[in-house]
Amino acid sequence: MQDNVKKLIEISNNLYKNKLVSGKSGNISIRLDDHIAITPTLKSLGDLKEEDIVLVDMESKCLTSGKPSSEVGMHLAIYNKREDVNAIIHVHSPYVTGFAFSDKKIKRLEGFGQINQEYLSSIEYEKPGSEELALSASQGIKDEDVLILKNHGMVCVGDNLKETESLAMFIEESAKTQFISIMLNSVKDI
Ligand SMILES: [Zn+2]
Repeated sequence: MQDNVKKLIEISNNLYKNKLVSGKSGNISIRLDDHIAITPTLKSLGDLKEEDIVLVDMESKCLTSGKPSSEVGMHLAIYNKREDVNAIIHVHSPYVTGFAFSDKKIKRLEGFGQINQEYLSSIEYEKPGSEELALSASQGIKDEDVLILKNHGMVCVGDNLKETESLAMFIEESAKTQFISIMLNSVKDI
């Protein structure tokens, strides 16, 4: 098995085991020269095989059999806009997505990279898998490594897959910490 594909399957599995994805949700991809390798549609990230991974060129043409994730347009739009990005992870992890379905913003906590601004950036809701989402997400993540998709989930980007996975886990943990703190602060002392 190609090393890159092996890595993609390994990280998909990690995300599943760490409960950042469940059911058949979430999708991840890596850039390989002039095309990308992306996880398939309607398959659990916890149970992928080499033949499930789909290779797609930068104009969205499939180079292998199989059907890519329905968010392939969003992945390509981001790669086409960001030359520095080589890996993308999109998940509906519970704490981040809980915040995404509320009017509360997620603070950028210390512990991963530079803190450029106090809160994570977000974009308004667009239908999953739509061109509108691809356009808005690629615009929203122009100067960021994390983007919250309102009423949907999050997108993390990075130079490589391992680093991007760490970032996704860190943001989910940050959202969990903030959830706990909001809950504790809302309880009156007895
Ligand atoms: Zn999604």
